[in-house]
Amino acid sequence: MKFEAARYELPLTRPLQLGSERVLVRAGWLVRRGTAVGDACPLPEFSSDTLGEVDSAIASGKMTASLEWALSTLQAGGPATVRTAGLLVALDEQVAPTHACIKLKVGRRPIGEELDAIARCRAVGLRLRLDGNRSLALDVARRLADAAADALEFFEEPVAPSDLELAMRCLPIALDETLGEPGEVPSGAAAFVLKPTVLGLRRTLELVEVAQRTAIPIVVSSAYESAVGRAALIRFAAAVAPDVAHGLGTGPAFVADFAGWVQAAGDRLTAGEGELPAELEWVGC
Ligand SMILES: [Mg+2]
Repeated sequence: MKFEAARYELPLTRPLQLGSERVLVRAGWLVRRGTAVGDACPLPEFSSDTLGEVDSAIASGKMTASLEWALSTLQAGGPATVRTAGLLVALDEQVAPTHACIKLKVGRRPIGEELDAIARCRAVGLRLRLDGNRSLALDVARRLADAAADALEFFEEPVAPSDLELAMRCLPIALDETLGEPGEVPSGAAAFVLKPTVLGLRRTLELVEVAQRTAIPIVVSSAYESAVGRAALIRFAAAVAPDVAHGLGTGPAFVADFAGWVQAAGDRLTAGEGELPAELEWVGC
């Protein structure tokens, strides 16, 4: 497949701690064929490929997971709209009244502050998605889930992999990190959180098949892609799970972004055809 590619860098509003790496600028490659544009931007420390590998692949005509994903998105154009969940970054932040559902990262602050944040969300009638990123003890996860009570939609990977099976017996667990690891996907998940940029095209499609066959809800999630990449994720989300609130609200993390590719209105995001800066340097691949 012939295409053009252009390297880009976009500054973030605040540093992003990704494992041991602190990221201030999001870098990737836009890929283009005709008027269709995609975004290959592996997330440092999380994606199965690296930006250096995409750099080499662009130069040598080889393929990487995120490049393959980006090229696959060139086949789907046109407008699409999905609902999104809000994201509570700081616990004392005002909860967004525009969203019916809020995602709250837990296990990062004293438990009292996290319980207060859960109570404030419940008080205004918000549904909750908690995400522990495998950092919690099971009894702490249960306390947080109890506090959310029937407002809890699901709990994303609260505990270490060794306790996952136990947690799945007592909590509605959404799988995220586990989906990127080799081996059989545990059954009985409340949802699959799919990050195509991290998983790559093949693994993403494999997991969509499993989810659809076993009636597990799919939540498509962004991994700090540019607006071009997020527009592709909106189209993908609208195709595989049109009625779900997806995790695609990472746009505000950017100081500057490609204009016009994603429009936000309330809890809805719409993918459109935007503009690209004239100074991008395109190379033929
Ligand atoms: Mg997660």
